[in-house]
Amino acid sequence: MPLTAYDLTGRTALITGAASGIGRATALLLAEAGASVHCADLDAQGAEQTAEESRKSGGRARSHALDVSDRTQVAAVVEESVRADGRLDIMATIAGVMHRSTVLDTSDADLDRVLAVNFKGVLYGCQEAARAMIAQGNGGSIVTMTSGVIDTGAPELLCYGVAKAAVYQLTKTLATEVGRHDIRVNAVAPGWIRTPMTDRHVDDAQGSGQQRMARLSPLGRVGEAEDVAHAVLHLASDASAFTTGQLLRPNGGVHMPW
Ligand code: NAP
Repeated sequence: MPLTAYDLTGRTALITGAASGIGRATALLLAEAGASVHCADLDAQGAEQTAEESRKSGGRARSHALDVSDRTQVAAVVEESVRADGRLDIMATIAGVMHRSTVLDTSDADLDRVLAVNFKGVLYGCQEAARAMIAQGNGGSIVTMTSGVIDTGAPELLCYGVAKAAVYQLTKTLATEVGRHDIRVNAVAPGWIRTPMTDRHVDDAQGSGQQRMARLSPLGRVGEAEDVAHAVLHLASDASAFTTGQLLRPNGGVHMPW
């Protein structure tokens, strides 16, 4: 039984990117905390696998096929979630893509593709969720997924970093605009987390990215998807009732901005 402040019984959560990595771990954890979870992903089969895993553990979960870069699809999935449960309390915009290219090699197409998923996809999710939450009048919590890259510079991550910095700006701006509806908006900026996304971007020339990032952390390890899911749970739940417009950094102490 979760601590009362972390108990999400009776709440509905929509999680994008729920087929894999951080989104999957978040969907499973929020369901374990009692929420009815809607698992949405471009990978519809993966989203259904997450939902099924949750149901097998006693959770309430459904899945949705969703391309977050398509506003119409985002609006439809928010509407379906509200129709199914009569409410939407938590929106976690976790879907994202990684892209690597140097500044000099970055094309318009690269920039457009990454911004479409990693920024516009989050914007659409925030807009549609906030509209639904305002209409129902019960407040809510929106959690966006940015990245530790916004605290630093990193080679070949221009498109990704620009999109993630924009997500942080969106988070703060929206928090100032919807707070009067008791809707909180916060961002999570993970460090290096072991997921299929980072597994695909191993830098052999300097040792694996995972080993290098583990050495940089005072905790001596890279993160797991569950480490980030717990940060999302905190921001989604009443445990963070007085927290809005903030950035939580589950990064093993790799970045300590001041
Ligand atoms: P992941 O394992 O690759 O999961 C991302 C999920 O998003 C995948 O299921 C992917 O589906 C889905 N997705 C991609 N494009 C989509 C779209 N247009 N519409 C809907 N779903 C889409 O990656 P992850 O590491 O868990 O990353 C999750 C989030 O955390 C991302 O926003 C990422 O930028 C952020 N993050 C990750 C790290 C890290 O170290 N892992 C660090 C900081 C921030 P497909 O597989 O079919 O593309």
